[in-house]
Amino acid sequence: MNVAQNLVTIQQQISDSCKISGRNPQDVKIIAVTKYVSIETAEQALNAGVIHIGENRDEGLAEKWSYFSDKPVWHFIGSLQTRKVKNIIDKVDYIHSIDRLSLAEEIQKRATRKIKCFIQVNVSEEESKHGISPNELHSFISKMELFPLIEIVGLMTMAPFTDNRELIRDCFKRLKIMQGEVQALNLPFAPCHELSMGMSNDYDIAVEEGATFIRIGTSLVGNK
Ligand SMILES: *Cc1c(COP(=O)(O)O)cnc(C)c1O
Repeated sequence: MNVAQNLVTIQQQISDSCKISGRNPQDVKIIAVTKYVSIETAEQALNAGVIHIGENRDEGLAEKWSYFSDKPVWHFIGSLQTRKVKNIIDKVDYIHSIDRLSLAEEIQKRATRKIKCFIQVNVSEEESKHGISPNELHSFISKMELFPLIEIVGLMTMAPFTDNRELIRDCFKRLKIMQGEVQALNLPFAPCHELSMGMSNDYDIAVEEGATFIRIGTSLVGNK
């Protein structure tokens, strides 16, 4: 696994996808998802120039945080149990997975500074998936006004589990439309300028459709 070489390949793909869609590659930030890999491999990503690190478990975050401290920008990307908030809240810069009011309440209660958060949207409305359903999004976001330490910087989604690239594209397009609708509400606590979408197998589509953060594990740092 040559992490530096993988990063070059991903940056080239981002550049190609941006060309297709008339975007600036600098508007796409790579989160290296290190949940499967060792501190040594994560360090290779940082040495290669990665700035953003994503973890989906409190233990994994704590382990890597104890080593890298606040050198990277830290993202919590997975579903987050309410009782785990206290373990991660002082370590993370971004939380990608706000999907219920009780979680927002706990973040507000435990945070000692403003936390940048994404609302996770279950665009494809699969039963198995976490996330707010699209038709509840506006009423949910308006409730975020109650939590001054939460800034809604954007929307996040996971594409449906399928090889059908048109279905995946449709999911990302819909999240982009929802982002525009939220931005039109002009809520000071929800600027919503970011879109967190795209993983190893579909980030090229996500970038074409407007992703500003892509979350890459396997094809950047591997998965073992
Ligand atoms: C694991 C994970 C990723 C990265 O997945 P890869 O397919 O390995 O790139 C992205 N987002 C979330 C929420 C994850 O849990």
